[in-house]
Amino acid sequence: MPTIKKIGVLTSGGDTPGMNAAIRAIVKAGNHYGIEIVGIQKGFFGLIHDKMQSLDSRAVYNIIHRGGTILKSARCEEFKTKKGRETANKVVKKNSIDALILIGGDGTLTGGKLFGREFDVPVIGLPGTIDNDLYGTDYTIGYDTAVNTVVTAVDKIRDTAHSHDRLFIVEVMGRDAGFIALRSGIATGAEKILIPEAKTFKEDLLESLKKGIAEDETSGIIIVAEGDDTGGAREVEKIVRDRYPDYDIRVSILGHIQRGGAPSAYDRVLASGLGYQAVKGLTEGKRDVMVGSINRQIVFTPLDKTIKYNSPINVELHSIAEILGL
Ligand code: ATP
Repeated sequence: MPTIKKIGVLTSGGDTPGMNAAIRAIVKAGNHYGIEIVGIQKGFFGLIHDKMQSLDSRAVYNIIHRGGTILKSARCEEFKTKKGRETANKVVKKNSIDALILIGGDGTLTGGKLFGREFDVPVIGLPGTIDNDLYGTDYTIGYDTAVNTVVTAVDKIRDTAHSHDRLFIVEVMGRDAGFIALRSGIATGAEKILIPEAKTFKEDLLESLKKGIAEDETSGIIIVAEGDDTGGAREVEKIVRDRYPDYDIRVSILGHIQRGGAPSAYDRVLASGLGYQAVKGLTEGKRDVMVGSINRQIVFTPLDKTIKYNSPINVELHSIAEILGL
């Protein structure tokens, strides 16, 4: 097993609260194991264009509580090409980097898997996405904070909904997954939660709103994941307005506030633990895996699996939410 003396770390894809806590933990763990840590700026773009910054304890001082990522993040089409990855490999060799830790979502891990295999570089991934849609961990870094952000926003929206007897349709992030919608919907007592994993039947939706009209209770919250098969909040608005002109409807699309802000305590602790375990794992010869936490145990899952399988949503929880909602 080759000795690892220098690890490169990058953040890629959408930024998430907790990425900084992970970077900090990687640097501190590097110090502990006598391994140099180098930061790669702007994800795979920085790997191709040699944007490196040395990371010591001072560089990660006072960042555990900060949202975003000090390394910056980017999407990089060039890395999807063999030529782009060949250039990245030259940069890796030039900088004497022995292994990589990649913090990002399934796109990032796909790129990491290809690169690691093509050029025989040990790669470990950390699940960094607010969507919580990676197989191999109960929670991804940033998900808990994003849910809390949605809950804070919806609580405020509900004050207005109630005062004005309005129905608010709130769209949250989740192009392919309804984790944010389901959890925040339960936490805010949403009357209805629409997620991509469960088909939304227009008639069911309309039927459930009929009760509100009958009981003269037309305030409420519908939470819609952006990837729901209705087509999102604006489409749901049309469907409801067509049938029930009496509902005073407002749409609120929460957008990028869900990505930002200080990470929750949960995300800080998760990111710290996973960051440490990634460095430790590399010293023990682990590679081509993502480090996650399942039932509070650290688990290394092959990158192939994390990319190939969908993280299952709790269908039972969705059924319970239906009962509790209306
Ligand atoms: P998020 O969950 O926030 O979308 P992500 O990591 O899935 O995060 P992507 O934009 O899908 O975000 O991917 C990030 C980067 O990973 C891409 O810009 C690209 O550089 C690299 N990447 C994605 N897919 C591939 C692929 N098939 N081959 C090589 N590299 C890829």
